[in-house]
Amino acid sequence: MLYKKITAGLLAAGMLLTLAACKKEEGNDGEARQVSIGVAVYKFDDTFMTGVRSVMEAEAKAKGADINLVDSQNTQTRQNEQVDTFITKGMTALAVNPVDRTAAGPIVEKARAKDLPVVFLNREPEESVMQGYDKTWYVGAKAEESGTLSGQIIADYWTANKAAADRNGDGKLQYIMIQGEPGHQDATLRTQYSIAALREAGIEVEELGRDTAAWDKVKATDLMKTFITSKGIGSIEAVICNNDDMALGVIEALKAEGYNTGDPAKFIPVVGVDATAPALAAMQNGSLLGTVLNDAENQGKAAVHIAIAAAQGKTVDKETVGYELTDGKYVWIPYVKITRENYQEYMQ
Ligand code: BGC
Ligand code: CA
Repeated sequence: MLYKKITAGLLAAGMLLTLAACKKEEGNDGEARQVSIGVAVYKFDDTFMTGVRSVMEAEAKAKGADINLVDSQNTQTRQNEQVDTFITKGMTALAVNPVDRTAAGPIVEKARAKDLPVVFLNREPEESVMQGYDKTWYVGAKAEESGTLSGQIIADYWTANKAAADRNGDGKLQYIMIQGEPGHQDATLRTQYSIAALREAGIEVEELGRDTAAWDKVKATDLMKTFITSKGIGSIEAVICNNDDMALGVIEALKAEGYNTGDPAKFIPVVGVDATAPALAAMQNGSLLGTVLNDAENQGKAAVHIAIAAAQGKTVDKETVGYELTDGKYVWIPYVKITRENYQEYMQ
């Protein structure tokens, strides 16, 4: 008898739990299905991605979704394992900032096997990979645009200050290009389009040197020092950097030579991309000429909104995520040119 009672009790409790679980899983209107997003970031020690991940964390919380962020420590094999762990833990959506954007295929396969949505961000997978599974999305920004805008900033400076800017008076702009990680769309296209923008402005350019500092400030200082030694500081008329951390690293190297510290006769225009807080501060003190806003806030929010909508089984569109989608899969967040005229609006 007692045994029966306990069994009945357990059964009832079990049924209640099942009911509760069902309720949680219900996807329709009022009751939102509990969403848990597993986010793998290529490395936590990246200034721009740190901005994006803080936004994602806050936005997920604001929307009542669970979020689990992990550091892939710049190792693709580690990231693949982290994705396996997310799947084992029962995450209902994945958001991945690939270490190697050409290695997104296996991640998509893992997601597909469990019918899980996967949102890539900041490092764009190949199109074939994106098209191969209907529950993949990409949130990013058009790298070409940031290249064009950063080139325009240098072009405007050159045109307005020609006499001083053309330090050797040969009519050509001698520049150094500091690139991000090889293979990253933002490194390739920002380089290409910044030079194109200078040419489009009718400026004759000569590349004194180009190399990668892998998005990293310290590496950029070292690289710039070697360029200063090999080319001579007097021959450098501009430094174009694929991101702000590297621009700030370059400025350290220039400062060590007494440049960009306030003396107008000793100023070399440096431009970056991202509009991070330290870059805006460098604009304020005059050591950095300009940058381009890489909108971490909207990129982070868009990624979280897509993950939530997709995990809830909703159609991912402007109405459910609040951002325009191209081909149903891509959210492109615009870049903004940041100059002396508008940088203060972006300071927090
Ligand atoms: C940013 C860089 C960042 C990189 C990481 C780029 O969009 O401009 O600052 O290091 O993404 O993938
Ligand atoms: Ca010159």
